[in-house]
Amino acid sequence: MNDVVLPEFDYIVVGGSAGCVLAARLSESPAAQVLLLEAGGPERTREMRVPSAWPDNLGSASDWGYLTTSQADAGPVAYPRGRGLGGSGAINAMAHLRGHRVIYDGWAQNGAPGWGYADLLPYFRRSETAPGRGTGPLAVVDPELRVHGIAGLRVADASVFPVIPNANTHATVLAVAERAAELVAAPY
Ligand SMILES: Cc1cc2nc3c(=O)[nH]c(=O)nc-3n(C[C@H](O)[C@H](O)[C@H](O)COP(=O)(O)OP(=O)(O)OC[C@H]3O[C@@H](n4cnc5c(N)ncnc54)[C@H](O)[C@@H]3O)c2cc1C
Repeated sequence: MNDVVLPEFDYIVVGGSAGCVLAARLSESPAAQVLLLEAGGPERTREMRVPSAWPDNLGSASDWGYLTTSQADAGPVAYPRGRGLGGSGAINAMAHLRGHRVIYDGWAQNGAPGWGYADLLPYFRRSETAPGRGTGPLAVVDPELRVHGIAGLRVADASVFPVIPNANTHATVLAVAERAAELVAAPY
């Protein structure tokens, strides 16, 4: 029998949403050999790419299709989990909310120093910034509502809010649209 020479790695990361971030960041060091292990495949189906189509992922080949243990009055219930590159992040609804700062401050106060909101804010900001899309929270558009990387396209709706101001977003949308009308009428 021939000897099998296995490659060596500095880091072996088991996949999913968190695993993909870890593997990407560790790979930024040219010297680091990183192995990302992921079940399923790398394909990005329509229902993975279109946020509103996310329910079509449930029960698909991209869903592990787990059931919970029996719940009171309900029996086992479906517990979808992503199976493929990106884990559950590949099949989720893409709603992005940081949560309230008091939650994270509670983590720190209850025995996890270094995990309060101020500690985590740089990491939220980093994870919300993509190469080529400028900087800042979820920077899909620039301050003049121009979509990064797509000439001639502007967005003016609630999706451009860097932070959701409150539960009733209608007034803010109207103000954004008023300002957008001025921006669109001005030279591009
Ligand atoms: C359908 C759906 C919709 C969601 N919508 C949102 C949303 O809109 N907004 C939001 O903030 N959050 C949403 N979430 C939650 C969010 O996606 C998860 O909290 C996040 O992706 C979890 O990341 P993780 O790294 O902890 O786990 P995962 O990304 O689930 O990674 C787990 C890893 O373990 C692997 N694994 C699992 N079982 C096995 C096994 N038996 N053998 C081998 N490997 C296995 C998986 O393949 C995967 O690689 C949604 C989740 C689901 C499932």
